[in-house]
Amino acid sequence: MPAKHRSRKKTTPSFLDGLAVLLRERYPNAPRWFIDLPPSAESYGDPPEVVVEQNEDEVRVSRFEQDWPHPHEPVVNPVLLGSVRWQELAPAVALELCRLLIDEASRQRRASFRMCRYCGRTLGPEHMHTNDVCQGCAERYLGVVH
Ligand SMILES: [Zn+2]
Repeated sequence: MPAKHRSRKKTTPSFLDGLAVLLRERYPNAPRWFIDLPPSAESYGDPPEVVVEQNEDEVRVSRFEQDWPHPHEPVVNPVLLGSVRWQELAPAVALELCRLLIDEASRQRRASFRMCRYCGRTLGPEHMHTNDVCQGCAERYLGVVH
């Protein structure tokens, strides 16, 4: 029985494939899209941490942020940390730059997360009434009306 020879041709994985793998490893849950984001952008993490916007020559990495300009009307307002012009770079270099930006966006955003002392959920600051009480529990237990 002849041995099967697999082609061992070395192929450099494309940058976009590498980015997809990186994001899937870091954030196994499906990305989310918010109405305020451009169609080419998605947020990763639960609560959301990072917004990654991809187009044919650039990847933009932002820290997820949400504001409440009016009660009951949250607006997603990502803060751009950096963009990578990936067509101008070797795939490995572009991927490493994206990895660094995603790590930093995640670190910054996670530093703002707080845990509610009533429900125990970890939430972004946009959902907190005070440092340790979320908005839902403030309404439920403290009689606060938002
Ligand atoms: Zn709570």
